[in-house]
Amino acid sequence: MSAGETLESYLGGKWVRGEGVETELVDPTKGSVLATASARGIDLKSVLEYARERGGPALRAINYAERAKLLSAIADVLVANRARYEEIAIANSGNTKLDAAIDIDGGIGTLKYYARLGTPLGAAKALLDEKPVRLAKAENFQAIHLMVPRHGVAVHINAFNFPSWGLWEKAACALLSGMPVLAKPASATCWLSHQMVRDVVASKLLPDGALNLLCGGIGSLLDHVTAEDVIAFTGSSNTASRIVGHRNVLARGTRVNVEADSVNAALLAPGCAPGTPAFDAFVKEVAREMTVKAGQKCTAIRRVFVPTERADNVAEALAARLAKTTVGDPRNETTRMGPLVSRAQQKMALDGIQRLAREAKFVSGSADAPKLDGIDNAKSAFVAPTLLRAQNGEGQTIHDTEIFGPAATVIPYKSEADAFALVARGGGSLVASVYGEDRDFLARAVTELGASHGRILAVEPSIADSHTGHGIVMPQCHHGGPGRAGNGAELGGLHGLSFYHQRVAVQGSSELLANLQAQAAPAH
Ligand code: NAP
Repeated sequence: MSAGETLESYLGGKWVRGEGVETELVDPTKGSVLATASARGIDLKSVLEYARERGGPALRAINYAERAKLLSAIADVLVANRARYEEIAIANSGNTKLDAAIDIDGGIGTLKYYARLGTPLGAAKALLDEKPVRLAKAENFQAIHLMVPRHGVAVHINAFNFPSWGLWEKAACALLSGMPVLAKPASATCWLSHQMVRDVVASKLLPDGALNLLCGGIGSLLDHVTAEDVIAFTGSSNTASRIVGHRNVLARGTRVNVEADSVNAALLAPGCAPGTPAFDAFVKEVAREMTVKAGQKCTAIRRVFVPTERADNVAEALAARLAKTTVGDPRNETTRMGPLVSRAQQKMALDGIQRLAREAKFVSGSADAPKLDGIDNAKSAFVAPTLLRAQNGEGQTIHDTEIFGPAATVIPYKSEADAFALVARGGGSLVASVYGEDRDFLARAVTELGASHGRILAVEPSIADSHTGHGIVMPQCHHGGPGRAGNGAELGGLHGLSFYHQRVAVQGSSELLANLQAQAAPAH
């Protein structure tokens, strides 16, 4: 695709163009328009029917191992075309090369992981969730729980910040399960998803109707989902509530998974002085999380909890690290942090920082766009790495406000109990990380914080240099948090397939159940 072209959608086995322009895709460094997208006027009812009637049966006709092979082949196509994806990510998302790698390689890595996981499931076409249990006096009347692929379409609605990873982490689980995919990336950054799907479609790997892409607004799509379809959504809580509360989604009982926003925490254990490995690991990780992808990760650290007596040390150490982060055009090799994805996101982030500043004081950065050499402030979408410091954790804005940008607040705590209670005031988050040398403290933190989190990273010195990072979502681990994070569940090895299967209790003769068991692969 050349710059300025209209992005088409791949629907019903062909590339189709919506009417007019719904969204302009903009370079957030230069302000220039890169492409446009529109799905206006496309008949989305027939698109869903096509996927349901063509893609679903074709995928269910092959077994898990064969579908795993397809995932592996998709990954190979993406690897072969990677250079182009990086260019798009830099131009359209303002990514540095490292940011682009997290998105692009994260997507490819997740496909490869599920290809590996699916291969040993072999010729099975269903998963066995539990061993047989006897239900009555008669020994030959028993029950098993099977998981069978659902017969609808997996509708995937994604956020702007991961046009690659968001697309493939969901598609990997759905396709391996035997469900066709209709992916709807966020319009602002759908160019990368578009290019990847274009390459996969051109390779003719997948059965007709198995992979569909909607570039443009959601239109009437949700009016046409049925009880057999599933919707996996990633984005803001506001949009999530519109999807969950959608008239047709409610009336049909369409299954919905929500991955929404999250005010994630990092917690420094008591007694970790500057210069100790735990203190250093903490500061390094917080600074990294604030600046990677310019803080536009749903898992990024927003609240930084430290013992009151360490608040000054932590604020100083973080400010020193952030000062070394070169902000600018991501095309420059020396740049460590690029812009936010759009001027709309920049405004939301700066407004949010202003709200935080009512409860916390600036340590570095500000609620104004930074002045940068060679960058036009009137066209670009930059936000400086911004650290605030609260007097204590009493205000609620610091716990409620997700700045989707490079900003975080240092919040002092008085005691262990105070720390755990303050972290929970985030109302349910995707991830918390805890740093310390006292393993008993780390264990207590896991138990206490586990109730309000989907994932906990516990960093002690022995893994300080080897852990995968607070914000990196690993396909082996559960992704999704309670409460405001959406109560979702994605990934986590084979658990990631559950959403795309129906769990069915089968009551019957032990001979029939043995037969079914022999044809199913273990679900865990
Ligand atoms: P968003 O504005 O909620 O948009 C997300 C997606 O929903 C986009 O594809 C959008 O399409 C679509 N959408 C908009 N209105 C809709 C409607 N009425 N019905 C159905 N879909 C609709 O979120 P965003 O600004 O792209 O992403 C930022 C948010 O995502 C942050 O809050 C972040 O925390 C969250 N996030 C969460 C995770 C996670 O895994 N938990 C991961 C990444 C991001 P258009 O773009 O066409 O409007």
